[in-house]
Amino acid sequence: MNIINKKNYNIKKNNISKNAIKVLNRLKKTGYQAYLVGGSVRDLLLGKKPKDFDVTTNATPEQLRKIFRNSRLVGKRFRIAHVMFRTEFIEVSTFRGNQKNISKYQNYKKNKKTINGMLLSDNTFGKIEEDAQRRDITINALYYDITNYSIRDYVQGISDLKQRTIRLIGDPETRYREDPIRILRVIRFSVQLNMKIEEKTAEPISRLANLLKNIPSARLFNEIIKLLETGKSYDIYQKIKQFNLFQLLSLFPKIKMSTHTKNLIQLISTITLKTIDNNIQKKINNNFIPEFFFSAILWYIQIEMTMNIQKEKKIEKKEAFLFSINKILSEFSLLLALPKQIISTIKEIWKSQFYIEKIFNDINVKLPNKKIFHQSCQLLLLRAETEKNMQLYKIFQYLINQSK
Ligand code: ATP
Ligand code: MG
Repeated sequence: MNIINKKNYNIKKNNISKNAIKVLNRLKKTGYQAYLVGGSVRDLLLGKKPKDFDVTTNATPEQLRKIFRNSRLVGKRFRIAHVMFRTEFIEVSTFRGNQKNISKYQNYKKNKKTINGMLLSDNTFGKIEEDAQRRDITINALYYDITNYSIRDYVQGISDLKQRTIRLIGDPETRYREDPIRILRVIRFSVQLNMKIEEKTAEPISRLANLLKNIPSARLFNEIIKLLETGKSYDIYQKIKQFNLFQLLSLFPKIKMSTHTKNLIQLISTITLKTIDNNIQKKINNNFIPEFFFSAILWYIQIEMTMNIQKEKKIEKKEAFLFSINKILSEFSLLLALPKQIISTIKEIWKSQFYIEKIFNDINVKLPNKKIFHQSCQLLLLRAETEKNMQLYKIFQYLINQSK
């Protein structure tokens, strides 16, 4: 273990959340060990302002609950405390144990694994040294002690940070099998932080690609949102394709699609990701990213399905369109646990497309309502670009002028 003192790095104190400092001081005063850890330490060392702060300690969740009246316990796989403040919450976790250090019987009982080696529960407490081994990559396993401004490094994370290297802790294959989401995290961090993936960490990725199917839908959804929020989602998408993972990510309902539809989806995905990245970089329209993304990438499946249903059931287009919306979104929810709110917004955005296309022919068509107006116009513009469709461009222009 290396202890690095403050002469050897530069952390801007202003970048540390006052609330995180309060939590750390309180734990220390109560007699516990407490460190800042994870992405926040990594980002502080890189000179960035972290977006959230994780604290780790030897206090158990129940003890944390007593120390912080403004806290609640969350999590099934591993119980952690959220200490709530007005503008943010600080996540406080208890040091996690290394399963190798407990007996086989305990291991069997406490840390159930599937045949693939995936950990279903991971609920053993341990010492800080073990906690470090349980983290994903070395640069995410640095512990910052704010009382003496020192950093504890059990996994050569500082050296990897300097060499801009993403390296899994421990045996990469075992770590990917335990938790396949690490495959996506490694790729995301390498693009997000512009770092190279160390050879042994990169090697198993394509080979183990099939494990992606085992990621629970709620965790996959959270990770997709994180990918989209990096502002580099197009580059991440490219890298995911380079590793031949894209077709294994369950992003599309298992519905037969024509080649034409598949091509349109490719096109609209690219334009959508570039638009999201551009908006994030310019800090505009950062709300509703998931609604925007999913309504766009699933749009042409919706169109094809509408046509098929119309033919099959011999019903009106509008009816088929509405029928198809429900069918696609309910199948899709099985793959990615989309929150209800997001599903209902996507529905509204889609329905609005049906009406606004008629805006020049039918004077009774209403403009999309305020809540989804911007998103509806954006989807219309994406469609216009994807199909190189002048008529859709004109409607888009018309709507924008109306809204001024
Ligand atoms: P971000 O900037 O995306 O928040 P982060 O590194 O803080 O990055 P979190 O998902 O907030 O990522 O997780 C906090 C810390 O928990 C990580 O830095 C890492 O140490 C640990 N961690 C998160 N996910 C995993 C995982 N799947 N396996 C092992 N450790 C993990
Ligand atoms: Mg974080």
